[in-house]
Amino acid sequence: MSTRPPIHVLRLGHRRERDKRITSHLGLTARAFGADCFLLSGEADPNVLETLGSVTERFGGDFEARYEKRPLGWLRRFANEDAGDGTPGVAIHLTMYGRPWGEVIPMLRRDRPIAIVVGGAKVPGEVYGICQHNVGIGNQPHSEVAALAVFLRDLLPSGTSPVEFPGGEIDVVPSASNKNVKHLGLNEDE
Ligand code: SAM
Repeated sequence: MSTRPPIHVLRLGHRRERDKRITSHLGLTARAFGADCFLLSGEADPNVLETLGSVTERFGGDFEARYEKRPLGWLRRFANEDAGDGTPGVAIHLTMYGRPWGEVIPMLRRDRPIAIVVGGAKVPGEVYGICQHNVGIGNQPHSEVAALAVFLRDLLPSGTSPVEFPGGEIDVVPSASNKNVKHLGLNEDE
């Protein structure tokens, strides 16, 4: 876990059959772009959580992924009472109806835990009221994966490799010409 306050991504309304790939991609994007925790809600889906756990085991980092049975209760508590340290956090709902992300991001508090909420099936109206910020990545419909990636990239910009992933079994060595991974301390060109 990094030293800044944690960033959680809450996935609302997962449907096991219809959303299995996109929800896995959402979790992988959360991890790769610097979030610390992924909360799955809607239909329980151990496969999504196993995928995220297995990627973290192989590629490193402290990313946590778990199922949240009562997402709105969790969110209300996070935004109004206790974001994990006894005081409220900052809850941000990504929605095409929200305010432009470029205007909102500079105003966000960076000293409090953040929860980023993305929808799946119909988003309950009360989510707009629970979250302190409703943010649009543009005001056209697109994808929760794209919205999350753009938001995290602009929330946590820092050079070309924004996130560290220590402790994995595999390290990817950036290469302009081939696939190069370090595995258990050995350099391997595959
Ligand atoms: N309602 C559709 C359905 O039944 O499948 C899905 C809506 S959309 C693909 C899912 C989520 O993507 C939204 O709840 C929102 O979090 C995110 N999203 C889509 N377009 C967005 C935008 N322009 N800005 C921010 N978030 C967006």
